[in-house]
Amino acid sequence: MNYPDVMEKLVSLCKRRGYIFQSSEIYGGTGSVWDYGPLGVELKKNIKDRWWHAMVRSRDDVEGLDAAILMNPRVWEASGHVAGFVDPLVDCRACKGRFRADKLEDARCLRKPSKHPGEFADCQLTEPRQFNLMFKTFMGAVEETAATVYLRPETAQGIFVNFLNVQQSMRKKVPFGIAQIGKAFRNEITPGNFIFRTREFEQMEMQFFVDPDKSSEWFDYWKGERMAWHRSLGLTEARLEFHQHTPAELAHYAKAAFDVQFDFGGTLGFQEIEGVHNRGDFDLKQHTEFSGKKLEYFDQAANRRYIPWVVETSVGADRVTLAVLVNAYREESVPGEDEGRVVLGIDPALAPIKAAVFPLTKKDGQPDMAHAIADGLRPQFPVDYDESGSIGKRYRRQDEVGTPFCITVDSESAADNSVTVRDRDTLAQDRVSTGEIARYLGDRLAR
Ligand code: ATP
Repeated sequence: MNYPDVMEKLVSLCKRRGYIFQSSEIYGGTGSVWDYGPLGVELKKNIKDRWWHAMVRSRDDVEGLDAAILMNPRVWEASGHVAGFVDPLVDCRACKGRFRADKLEDARCLRKPSKHPGEFADCQLTEPRQFNLMFKTFMGAVEETAATVYLRPETAQGIFVNFLNVQQSMRKKVPFGIAQIGKAFRNEITPGNFIFRTREFEQMEMQFFVDPDKSSEWFDYWKGERMAWHRSLGLTEARLEFHQHTPAELAHYAKAAFDVQFDFGGTLGFQEIEGVHNRGDFDLKQHTEFSGKKLEYFDQAANRRYIPWVVETSVGADRVTLAVLVNAYREESVPGEDEGRVVLGIDPALAPIKAAVFPLTKKDGQPDMAHAIADGLRPQFPVDYDESGSIGKRYRRQDEVGTPFCITVDSESAADNSVTVRDRDTLAQDRVSTGEIARYLGDRLAR
């Protein structure tokens, strides 16, 4: 199936309707950095809560962590990021563009009509140079090399350096995992596609520490769990697939790796949204060597001491948010109406606003009744109140931001103490008594 390219429409909808704004927009923006608006922050938070619930709260073999972004700089020497977290770059002397040498076929030169870098006759590309993707800054008052620290390019290292702290304080037995959600920063050379590849983003990572002999079993287990989680967000099954890393793609530390890919449609097509990696004992060994502290596990039952292997699941909160938005976006005609509608068919449980409450008209005390209903629901559900414009316009506004239910107070409501609840997807309307609305919404959202 060829899914349409909805990115441009989505970027515009997200700005117009309070999902995502360009960072520092009034100053002309910041390259590939985005701010989440009132609805975007709710959607991303719902996705992160889902992950935390699935990976931490509902399991007794995974513990949570929130490690700091700034770490001892030696961490990044041990992890290999100082020496190895680099992209080969070429500059074009004619158009002055800078491109990744290994991705020239995906890049467009800055001149019009644009071609791939190097294709114009007078184009001269420099030799590739290595460029480190970590952001550097300084700690303390002195800006000198000795005080250099890095903004973390991944959350995983915060977990490795806390392996013993968590294992000992929580008295965990291998196999067990440590999970965290947090910001990561990469000075990406070819960022783009909205929030797909940005320079500041959020990762949701879990490192599962296992007996080396059992790492393949656990790897298969986590592959299955993670794919099931993506499906649980409502991502269309046919748009999800695994991609196995070829030996050339495997990172230096990895024994095996699969990406979960999502079909973003258009020319972007299938792209990684999550990585599941068998990292072997690379990380704990490196940190043992660099810190001088033994990061081992003693299995009392087997009277055996070893360095656990790590099965890692690493997913970008922003990339999944984009996948959910792309998957949800649809344009359709409405039976009996001339104008079509744009719908964000987001899984109701993830939707930023669960219900919108409208008075049909501004007369006969309808607004008061609608306000009272909205106020009554608010402690339990994020709700919106809207009385401006025709009812059709108000429905369209809510469809476009993905609100699953619209509740309308009409001229009968005061007499029969009930309202109409309209379903975003089926357009079916139920008459529900006012005392039952919260229960009705609760049932429908739990499905
Ligand atoms: P890519 O090849 O797309 O740059 P990667 O293989 O470097 O990704 P990992 O280091 O495995 O990615 O990071 C795990 C996850 O973090 C990715 O699957 C993605 O969801 C997210 N991620 C990585 N880099 C970015 C970025 N620059 N912007 C947004 N999300 C990112």
